[in-house]
Amino acid sequence: MNKDHNQVWKNCLEVIKDNVSPQGFKTWFEPIKPVKLEDSILTIQVPSQFFYEWLEEHYVSLLKKIIRKELGAEGRLEYSIIMENNHNNANPYTIKVPTSNRKAVKNSPVTMPLDLGESPIKNPFIIPGLRKMQVDSNLNPNYSFDNFIEGDCNRLARSAGFAVANKPGGTAFNPLLIYGGVGLGKTHLAHAIGIEIKNKFEDKTVLYVSSEKFTHQFIDAVKNNTVNDFTHFYQMIDVLIIDDVQFFSGKEKTQDVFFHIFNHLHQTGKQIIITSDKPPVEMQGMEQRLLSRFKWGLSADLQVPSLETRIAILKKKMYADGIDLPDEVVEYLGYSITSNVRELEGALISLIAQSSLNKKAITLDLAKQMIDKFVKNTAREVSIDYIQKVVCDYFDLPIELLKSKTRKREIVQARQIAMYFAKKMTKSSLASIGAHCGGKDHATVLHACRTVNNLQETDKHFRKYLEDLEKKLSIA
Ligand code: ADP
Ligand code: MG
Repeated sequence: MNKDHNQVWKNCLEVIKDNVSPQGFKTWFEPIKPVKLEDSILTIQVPSQFFYEWLEEHYVSLLKKIIRKELGAEGRLEYSIIMENNHNNANPYTIKVPTSNRKAVKNSPVTMPLDLGESPIKNPFIIPGLRKMQVDSNLNPNYSFDNFIEGDCNRLARSAGFAVANKPGGTAFNPLLIYGGVGLGKTHLAHAIGIEIKNKFEDKTVLYVSSEKFTHQFIDAVKNNTVNDFTHFYQMIDVLIIDDVQFFSGKEKTQDVFFHIFNHLHQTGKQIIITSDKPPVEMQGMEQRLLSRFKWGLSADLQVPSLETRIAILKKKMYADGIDLPDEVVEYLGYSITSNVRELEGALISLIAQSSLNKKAITLDLAKQMIDKFVKNTAREVSIDYIQKVVCDYFDLPIELLKSKTRKREIVQARQIAMYFAKKMTKSSLASIGAHCGGKDHATVLHACRTVNNLQETDKHFRKYLEDLEKKLSIA
């Protein structure tokens, strides 16, 4: 058969287009790239594991039919997935369809998989048959600096990470400790540093390992009587990245072996990068001597990203996944999900999935409903930012003016209304509401609330404004 994969896929798309909703087509089929056609097997590249599972779950029978029509009874489809959170292999891997079990079949792995149960090689990281010790760095190529949006929330940690990447072991930032709450980008940043070092210094041995994995390896080493091998292996690493070090707490033996590895690496000018969910002073169950070493270098924290950064992250993510959403939806997500980036991404994915499932276009309404259903457990409340935005949109005023100190009449009134709703709908203190609205004090906010209440009783136009706004602000 002498068919070209592009042409075949194009033919498939034509049929698919007639059989799925426009949004479904856009979300799930436009981002697919045909890769090759060999022996009646068409390989298509999809952006993520989630994407593949989604296709399998929802479109498999359609795809089967179409492939059979295009390529005959022998026709098969294979997916090539751009790697996500699987750290073992940077290359896309391939999954065959039809398949009854969901397990990914790796395509010629270049490195030894970490979890190979009955490996004849003692150390799971070492690739056999090479002269110089080669270590699978375990880095996820998606977690690069390029994909890491910079904001006030991460500026210090990011630039320290960058400095370390330019001169591993050669800066005062050794160890570099990155700490912050869950889902704020610690793991991402740690990988980014590792990737950057690998790009700049090909010969350096970089290793990313979670504290959990380190602990399990150590326990195995104790069982198998190979603690020396274990220690030696780690002492040969040039750049050691230990993720979620808080997992070591209360594990004295693991801390002990890590202490020795740490000392050796530090003395020989090797770089150590650690992440943790809290700063050293707050780490419980950690040996003092280890804690004091954590403080030798630089501790940099990651904070909750600002609204602008959250929106930038969403846009970047959408771009990477080939998804397009109306601006008002993106803004709504950014306004509503304030606590961490992982949740933000989760909401985005749920939204796309939801829209595809119900064959509905992604509208602001759908976003509101979805957030209510999926993100409820985070006790979300409308944010002051969101209230300000809705009020300004309603009165067609620039939001900067509302946040400024200006005393222009129409701005003052809009500002007062925003304060009133902030008081009514959020748990923020009067002082913090004031700070958000042009740096006013709590007495001004109180006064604003009274004024709005009075006007509401006496002015029916004003009352109408409030009713409209209240509707816009209440979710779903
Ligand atoms: P942590 O390790 O702190 O719990 P992660 O590094 O796993 O958090 O980040 C959670 C998700 O948020 C990841 O998908 C990551 O890519 C994304 N993320 C976090 N911060 C940023 C950022 N500044 N820019 C882009 N994506 C980010
Ligand atoms: Mg993490």
